[in-house]
Amino acid sequence: MSELISKLKTKTREELCELAKNNIITTVEGWVKTKRDSKNITFIEVSDGTCLKGLQVVAERGKIADDVLSGITTGASVVCKGRLVESEGANQAVELQAEEIELVGEAPADYPLQKKRHTLEYLREIGHLRARTNTIGAVMRVRSAMAYAVHKYFQDNGFYYVNTPLITASDAEGAGQMFQVTTLDLNNVPRTEDGKADYSKDFFGKKANLTVSGQLEGETYATALKNIYTFGPTFRAENSNTKRHLAEFWMIEPEMAFCTLEGDMKIAESFLKYIFSYTLENCAEDMEFFSSFIEKGVRETIEHVIKTPFAHLTYTEAIAELEKSKDSFDFKPYWGCDIQTEHERFLSEEVCKSPVIVTDYPKEIKSFYMKMNDDGRTVRAMDVLVPRLGEIIGGSEREARLDVLKQRMAELGLKEEDYWWYLDLRKYGTVPHAGFGLGFERAVQYITGMQNIRDVIPYPRAVGSAEF
Ligand code: ATP
Ligand code: MN
Repeated sequence: MSELISKLKTKTREELCELAKNNIITTVEGWVKTKRDSKNITFIEVSDGTCLKGLQVVAERGKIADDVLSGITTGASVVCKGRLVESEGANQAVELQAEEIELVGEAPADYPLQKKRHTLEYLREIGHLRARTNTIGAVMRVRSAMAYAVHKYFQDNGFYYVNTPLITASDAEGAGQMFQVTTLDLNNVPRTEDGKADYSKDFFGKKANLTVSGQLEGETYATALKNIYTFGPTFRAENSNTKRHLAEFWMIEPEMAFCTLEGDMKIAESFLKYIFSYTLENCAEDMEFFSSFIEKGVRETIEHVIKTPFAHLTYTEAIAELEKSKDSFDFKPYWGCDIQTEHERFLSEEVCKSPVIVTDYPKEIKSFYMKMNDDGRTVRAMDVLVPRLGEIIGGSEREARLDVLKQRMAELGLKEEDYWWYLDLRKYGTVPHAGFGLGFERAVQYITGMQNIRDVIPYPRAVGSAEF
């Protein structure tokens, strides 16, 4: 019964009017969005959060007690029982003619979400209430549908879901960006003879961190179950305040055995297109809202992306394109440089006018585990870049040759004993394998058109901010 409102949303105006002829007595439970009094009638807009639209409840004075009506204010919770009738108003096909209204919880006048429009910045300060707004409610419904689509894509395509650890003692790449996990007393840290913190006394007997990626562990499962994916929280102590970085975000990391970069790119493209189509199909009402009020035309953009084959450029080709327009960048591109967000956007927005997969990056700017090309200078990495956002996916074929991997680690000063189990994968039954990571929030951001990543996760964690 409580989901009456979202059932109504799937019907056309004609179907609703037809329905209203059946004298249906029904109940709606929800929160009051607005209340408007006219002579003998009070109009109450009730929303239950299951979809964007609410239901207009019409209360006749006399039928509903005055003290109930006066207690009904924006934000109050109510249960309304009545008859579904055709509406005379232009804004809705049907409305509920109230027989009974129960005021479940009042909302005093200081309720922070009064009728006027609020900025997203303000809403971040009331993170515990912001899901009751149209925008954040729509984002979170879309986020939920996308999470389901992620699992559905992989489960339908023979991938097993693997949960990799969140606490890790393998000092993998990106150590600088890691959050340390410790039970040592920071005011009284045990020391070794040379004055350093003595981690042998710490909880795990060694230094531990929150994971920045489940990939290395994911590889161990791919080389056992063939195709796997992870979908879980990831932590990076990103010290910059950007609109696309969080300190805690959710990452999806598929890993495929007997797969090269070509297969990796195909899966990345079909996966993205699948989750986009699923969302357009299943969140039509919310997508219409984003397309009209958040980012004009975002739905058409996504439809276009679904239909268009992704473009391909090698890093070397990408740099050549960027150099042709170097005056338009703050950071001047050159072969060997990290591709900046402004470059990523230029490549997808201006050069390709579609998502583009850039491959074969210089080994210096990519991780040790990526497969070395025969040129000895570039690796089999790929990034998927999309208009407006830049990088959405980063992936690679992994180095499957034990000797080449060891040599790469030596060049970078990585100790073999720290990666003994990772090296074992190349020692015992090594196979070509590949995978990628998709930042879940970046995908939600992309499809909804939301500008700031902090508005597409319930409780954003970023430098200097961990309220709620
Ligand atoms: P970027 O260059 O955008 O900082 P990255 O190259 O550090 O990303 P990867 O290590 O390749 O990112 O991670 C894979 C994916 O995870 C990225 O393509 C992106 O979608 C997402 N991602 C990375 N860092 C963050 C973050 N701090 N917040 C949210 N998503 C992130
Ligand atoms: Mn990357």
